Amino acid sequence: SQPSQFAVFGHPIAHSLSPRIHQGFAQQFGITLEYRTIDATPGDFADAVRAFFIAGGTGANVTLPHKGAASSLADERSEAATRAGTANVLTRLPDGRLVAHNTDGAGLVRDLTERHRVDLRGHDALLLGAGGAARAVAWSLLDAGVQTLTIVNRTPETADALADAIGEPARVHTRYWDDLANLGSYDLIVNATSAGVLGGGLKLPMSLVGARALCYDLAYGAAAIDFVAWAKAGGARYAWDGLGMLVEQAAEAFALWHGRHPDTEPVYQSLRAEG
Ligand code: NDP
Repeated sequence: SQPSQFAVFGHPIAHSLSPRIHQGFAQQFGITLEYRTIDATPGDFADAVRAFFIAGGTGANVTLPHKGAASSLADERSEAATRAGTANVLTRLPDGRLVAHNTDGAGLVRDLTERHRVDLRGHDALLLGAGGAARAVAWSLLDAGVQTLTIVNRTPETADALADAIGEPARVHTRYWDDLANLGSYDLIVNATSAGVLGGGLKLPMSLVGARALCYDLAYGAAAIDFVAWAKAGGARYAWDGLGMLVEQAAEAFALWHGRHPDTEPVYQSLRAEG
């Protein structure tokens, strides 16, 4: 029989690590699959997804800028996709309906708790950004036991909308970006802005970094260099980039498609070794 077909949709997408990650997982189980990249503009995305699944596709990953559209076009949404309003995974049910999932939040929490052995319970966390990724990780961090979550976004209305959607005013607060210097320090700081990817750079006061703070940039590689350097200069105990989250969100998607959870460490180590 034909190998099952998977793809990642994005724009741009050529440099995506997802094909390698999924092929690496598949090898662990002796599974043969096709996994390709599909570059679709926002105007083409919905048609491209439908064509992929009509042609026999089993599952798709979705990345920038299509995560919102992926959630909207699906027939059903998981709880995580509903809460985030975005999806990074699409699966096809036997009757052809599409289900949207969001594994980004679970990916971050797994990277922190399993790979980095962090106990998230009781932390006072600062979340920078309120875009799609921030929405995905906010609930997961709270579910994992973060005590308070302070959300700060350049556009404050979006942070307020996220806090309202979460609906836990005792644990979730929003503050203004211009006020960052007055907020004191946090023991967990998560950068979910795309400033590093876009090359804009963030101006963050060192006073945010608590003694022995844990800092995490969802971006990885060159896009995370500035944030990681800032965190270390501020005295952070650890400052990680998002490569582990990337591998873990892929593993969660793999488990949805194949019913088995891969060993992420060899794939993570081989990507890390390449810098
Ligand atoms: P979105 O476009 O949905 O959101 C971007 C966010 O960044 C918004 O909050 C935006 O603020 C903020 N932002 C952009 N530029 C600046 C700036 N110069 N200063 C301050 N804030 C800024 O993107 P996503 O949420 O999808 O992605 C965010 C990041 O997370 C990206 O770097 C992405 O690569 C990474 N990511 C990593 C994953 C992984 O597996 N490691 C998974 C998913 C995402 P505003 O609302 O004001 O525009």
